[in-house]
Amino acid sequence: MPSMQAILFYGPGDARLVESPIPTPGPGELLVKVGAALTCGTDLKSYRRGHPRIFKTLPSPFGHEFAGVVAEVGAGVERFAIGQRVVAANSAPCGECAFCREERESLCERLEFLNGAYAEYIAVPERIVRRNTYLIPDHLSFAEAALIEPLACVLHGLDALDLQLGATAVVLGCGPIGLLFVNALTLRGLSVIASDRHEPGLAAARHFGAVATVNAADMGDSVDEQVAAARALTPGERGAPVVIEAVGRAETWTAATRMARRGGQILLFGGAKAGTIFPIDGTALHYDELTIKGVFHHTPRHIHLALYLIASSAINARDYLTANRPLAETIAALEESGAHRGIKTVIVPPSADLAPLGALAHEDA
Ligand SMILES: [Zn+2]
Ligand SMILES: [Zn+2]
Repeated sequence: MPSMQAILFYGPGDARLVESPIPTPGPGELLVKVGAALTCGTDLKSYRRGHPRIFKTLPSPFGHEFAGVVAEVGAGVERFAIGQRVVAANSAPCGECAFCREERESLCERLEFLNGAYAEYIAVPERIVRRNTYLIPDHLSFAEAALIEPLACVLHGLDALDLQLGATAVVLGCGPIGLLFVNALTLRGLSVIASDRHEPGLAAARHFGAVATVNAADMGDSVDEQVAAARALTPGERGAPVVIEAVGRAETWTAATRMARRGGQILLFGGAKAGTIFPIDGTALHYDELTIKGVFHHTPRHIHLALYLIASSAINARDYLTANRPLAETIAALEESGAHRGIKTVIVPPSADLAPLGALAHEDA
């Protein structure tokens, strides 16, 4: 049986590069030779503490943002052919459950997840081939195309908000997701204030359009001071009509609610640890008519829109790709992203060419 190199997840803190059989595509499936995969904060979290939905069996395939070339087509596949460059999302909804029927596809009861991007080959399940796989326009690299997944999550988050041209938004957290929010909100005509604890993230936020930044570490991590600093930058110091939390910690969730102005919308986007409870001022919630929303994952519509925005250069994907690493160094690359170095690292399988670096590559040496 032909084999390939793949990173497999064995348990929290334990992922290994192993020789693994190349998957055989079943009916309706595609076998894709991975051209590039991207590191993601979710993968780092999953590596450190495991993940109940992503890792169904152990050892498990690992990695979920990727693009590549069709190497084999399963029986009955008509839309794709061997040799085509494709990008696939990491899930697809069933289209039939109660939530799918209400067009809430991110809440699908049978959402099918795909992992295994940190490998030379990946088999894309039938449902994802049918609903969430696209040809890559010729002018995009594999790594650029692979950015559709995190961008789609962000576009899904923005759709949960009422965004007015010229309004102020605060974004808490300048990791890849926070930066995509800064970028997309700026595109939508909002004036963005970004906050983070690390200067490289704030510099990147300014690159992507933030008009002002708050370094939370400068305030000795005092939440009161961070809230005051962010509010001081909003019109009339009233707070922001839109506040987005892209960190995933109870303290920043609370801080986000306190940065909103009357009638403000707070999007809690960062996923927190299971069982996280956070305090909120009930008086403000009521008398200030705050709206607090949680948003998870993406939908096929947002995957489609993300590819359009990257292909049209409305979102410049290259600016997010700050390093290249061979497959064998995947875990080191994930740890590096956890240490706030760079934005996204392109993981390149042994048999693929190194992809070009993005424009921000040298800013955070
Ligand atoms: Zn991701
Ligand atoms: Zn469903």
